[in-house]
Amino acid sequence: MSRRKKKFACGHSGYGRECHRCEQSYAVREQKKKEKNAWQETFCHDPIDLSSLPRNVVLKARQIIQNIQNHTSYTNFRGKRLRHDRFIISIPVTRNYRLICRDYGSFVAPEAVVSHEDYNVCKPGS
Ligand SMILES: [Zn+2]
Repeated sequence: MSRRKKKFACGHSGYGRECHRCEQSYAVREQKKKEKNAWQETFCHDPIDLSSLPRNVVLKARQIIQNIQNHTSYTNFRGKRLRHDRFIISIPVTRNYRLICRDYGSFVAPEAVVSHEDYNVCKPGS
């Protein structure tokens, strides 16, 4: 049985009825699209908006948020109260991002993740 290479309409050559190279890249594209959508959907479950942040920051922030919601102390994450507002807690997420939380007395709620630059801007007197 001889299988002869043929040239497809797309310009690739190969065996079979359809061009496998194009089929494959189509599948890869579809897979990437799916992954991207799935990633976008995960943001619906966050108590605060994390969608504009880099992926590693999102994942780390979620971990901290989850722990805080389970009443793990912010001090476990090297969180500190701000000097000018003791009800605000700043927790480092990565080198460049911090999670800002508010202390409501009986619980601590996440408010936002800010970059280092934003954080310094909203800090009075610096
Ligand atoms: Zn092709």
